[in-house]
Amino acid sequence: MLYREMPKTKDKLSTLGFGCMRFQGRPTNPDEKKAIEQIRYAVDKGINYLDTGWPYHGGKSEVILGKALKDGYREKVKVADKLPQWLCRSRDDMDWYLGEQLKRLDIDKIDYYLIHAVNGASWKKAVENGVIDFMTEAKAAGKVVNLGFSFHGPKDDFMKIIDAYDWDFCQIQFNILDEHFQAGIEGLNYAASKNIGVIIMEPLRGGALAGKQPAEVEAIYQAANPGRTSVDWALRWIWNHPGVVTILSGMNTIEQIDENIATASTAEMNSMSNDELTAVRRAADAFRTLMQVPCTACQYCMPCPAGVDIPSAFSFYNNKYLFNAGFMNRAWYLAMNQGGGDKKPSFASQCVDCGKCLEHCPQNIQIPTHLKQVEKEFEGWMKKPLIYLVNTAMSKGKRK
Ligand code: SF4
Ligand code: SF4
Repeated sequence: MLYREMPKTKDKLSTLGFGCMRFQGRPTNPDEKKAIEQIRYAVDKGINYLDTGWPYHGGKSEVILGKALKDGYREKVKVADKLPQWLCRSRDDMDWYLGEQLKRLDIDKIDYYLIHAVNGASWKKAVENGVIDFMTEAKAAGKVVNLGFSFHGPKDDFMKIIDAYDWDFCQIQFNILDEHFQAGIEGLNYAASKNIGVIIMEPLRGGALAGKQPAEVEAIYQAANPGRTSVDWALRWIWNHPGVVTILSGMNTIEQIDENIATASTAEMNSMSNDELTAVRRAADAFRTLMQVPCTACQYCMPCPAGVDIPSAFSFYNNKYLFNAGFMNRAWYLAMNQGGGDKKPSFASQCVDCGKCLEHCPQNIQIPTHLKQVEKEFEGWMKKPLIYLVNTAMSKGKRK
């Protein structure tokens, strides 16, 4: 494992951090035992930055991380958590959420505390509600050690927020497809120029840059370096930037942890050749031409009051075009969203166009418009017969 220094704090953080938002199991009922095993496995392998947030896994992520920190693990790591600013109507709320988070984590201080998912408007509201006083007092009281913010919004807002406080660190979305999106490379470099450490989220764009890649992208990567995986390319490109301290990855299998650590152990800053950088640029261009909806599966638009599983709909829809696999993705979309057990149906066609999700999407996706297209291409009159076919296929081999 390689480590990089956080400029102001001088903490040596592992270049790979563990994001506690994609544990195995159901989103609000994750597999606690597996999650704790995997977190501890990652720490034993050298990861020392663990990131959680109030809404992750319906509030269970912080609790699970707290349990993983027992038995001597707390002393080996830095814990990052985030103030859910959108839930705070007052300064008093901020104190309450921080207090609850310390209880959920069962620790007495949070090493890296972020104001979660701000943009220009939400930062302004947070300031009006007293967030500066809150941060100053929380730090003075020793409840938080380092202060930062995570960002989803336009570049200009990012620059203004960077200048608005003496931040220790910040967290931005950055990956081969988002070099100039939101804060982007300009924001990364601006923060670094002010000695503010940068943590990277969405390095694999919600998983789209992992696993089987479109044929055009695979061909570019294979020609440049046969045998190197798409994950290796994507992460190595981010670590190549000197301003990056740590990349967060929401890992949920031992194989993913091992694969990411293998890359993290050799990916030094400024280590990629011009030919490699050109290959990444060409792969990103090929990707962009194929992607229909720029959804990162961040879940901020959820829950939808009408029950639509928005990220699921966009994931299957994008996969149809990325991997030229229309039927398979249609079948999976229908199977996964039909409901059953305690899960209610969650099809795109359930959208009632209320617009609630639009306020929360950091990618500014016109969600209802795209859902109509998903409905048109994946549902229609074939919906029932296809669900029947899928269920029959899925029941094959079932114990009588
Ligand atoms: S616009 Fe549609 S998808 Fe968005 S919250 Fe409303 S019903 Fe759900
Ligand atoms: S539609 Fe937007 S808010 Fe919803 S999961 Fe995708 S990127 Fe996130």
